[in-house]
Amino acid sequence: MINGITSLDKACATIQNRRLAFGQHPQRDLYYDLKRYNTIGYFRQFMSSIVKFPTSCAMCTTGDLGPILHGDALMGWKHRASVAPGLASVPIGDLPFPFAHVDVASENIAPASGACPNWTAGETSRITTSSRKLDVTGFFIVACRHGFIWACSDVRTPGEQLVYPVKLLKAAVQRIGVPEEAVTFVYDVACKLGNKVTSKLAVPVFHAYGHESKCRLNNSIRVVSGTGITDGEICERIFSFLRPFGRILKEMRIDRRTRLVSHIINMYHLRLNPDAWIKSRQKLLEKKDQLVIQHVNEINRLQPRHELSLQQLISLGEKWLCEDAIASALRSGDWLQSMRRMVVEERKVLKELHRTIGIHQYRLLLRKAKKLALEMNQLRSLNGNQYSIATLRDTTSEAYSRLDRHVSRRFPIPVQLLVIEVYILSIRSTEERRRVNAEQSSLMTKTESVCDFPEYFSESSSSFSGVSDSEDE
Ligand SMILES: [Zn+2]
Ligand SMILES: [Zn+2]
Repeated sequence: MINGITSLDKACATIQNRRLAFGQHPQRDLYYDLKRYNTIGYFRQFMSSIVKFPTSCAMCTTGDLGPILHGDALMGWKHRASVAPGLASVPIGDLPFPFAHVDVASENIAPASGACPNWTAGETSRITTSSRKLDVTGFFIVACRHGFIWACSDVRTPGEQLVYPVKLLKAAVQRIGVPEEAVTFVYDVACKLGNKVTSKLAVPVFHAYGHESKCRLNNSIRVVSGTGITDGEICERIFSFLRPFGRILKEMRIDRRTRLVSHIINMYHLRLNPDAWIKSRQKLLEKKDQLVIQHVNEINRLQPRHELSLQQLISLGEKWLCEDAIASALRSGDWLQSMRRMVVEERKVLKELHRTIGIHQYRLLLRKAKKLALEMNQLRSLNGNQYSIATLRDTTSEAYSRLDRHVSRRFPIPVQLLVIEVYILSIRSTEERRRVNAEQSSLMTKTESVCDFPEYFSESSSSFSGVSDSEDE
């Protein structure tokens, strides 16, 4: 059922219908029998007795390189309040791994002062989750960069609130057994967390484009030291596996739902393939090396008189990035900055639109996308239509580099951008190499924790291994 993403009810109905088609007339209701004798419960117990589900990630112990954790909410996983209303939640002591208790009522965490003013966590999703008929509106996870889910919780507030990342990060850190300050925490609106957590904070690559330039130049995962070439999008990859189960989970009794979610996550953990992951990182590193060579050649083609070496370019890039970060702190809002935020938001809405299942949600998202497009057009015409809408939709386009044109450098902007890119790529690749080596040796010492799972269960393991070969970094 995990592989087929179907409910017990539907699976039974399919079997019954098959039997009818073959001329058999079953006297008993299969679903009713399975439920009455708790067969499915025994089956899960049986599974967990023969299968050793992983309870930790074999690659997260990397010595002085602290783990990198990501937090994000999956807003498609909802729960209808009217299903067994007496059972509002599962007692704290009975929460199965990797669930962690988040006390929403006790704490209201306000965004840190000085954070980017425009972002609200779960902004695109909130419009679709305001219904009072739901008691669970989403699902928050904290996972490491290898795709292991260390802590999770149902989201019981409209929209995603800062209490979830803060509390679940603490739970995850405790399970890993490292101090909070050793961790780098990647979150869409990390700048809002401020001093609520002691971990180093970072904003995922693509999301960072929507933040103010001073935030981007200080908090983007590309400029935060020690992150290697982590892109910060692992939660999205996990969600593409989890999302389809939302349909089954919406109508379940909350205690059964929680147990099933835990089971789904356990089954997902079995699919993670650390060896394939390490290999994909090495491949990615080779690609990045080639990219650096390409950029260096391109710079020397554009500036033939200078003939700069890689080492010179790296120190130049470092100096310029530092200058930009200082200058951006002094600069206030800009219409291009607002435009960039809207572009990122629009892209999120459109992505959501392609995945959505219900027609109601689809309409709401469509309306939001249209409104954003209209606002973007207005903003563009108010500022003299100097850029085409296609240029503005590309967050890496030259239009936005105008934001950083503040010091006189003798190189044109495209060259400046390339030099900074060479610096970031080289530094991050060096860090990534160190990290991958540490992960590999951590994996070697922990082989005993790898479970002996029968071959036929892990058949489809190649379909998902938390691996990304994409160039989204
Ligand atoms: Zn890990
Ligand atoms: Zn920010």
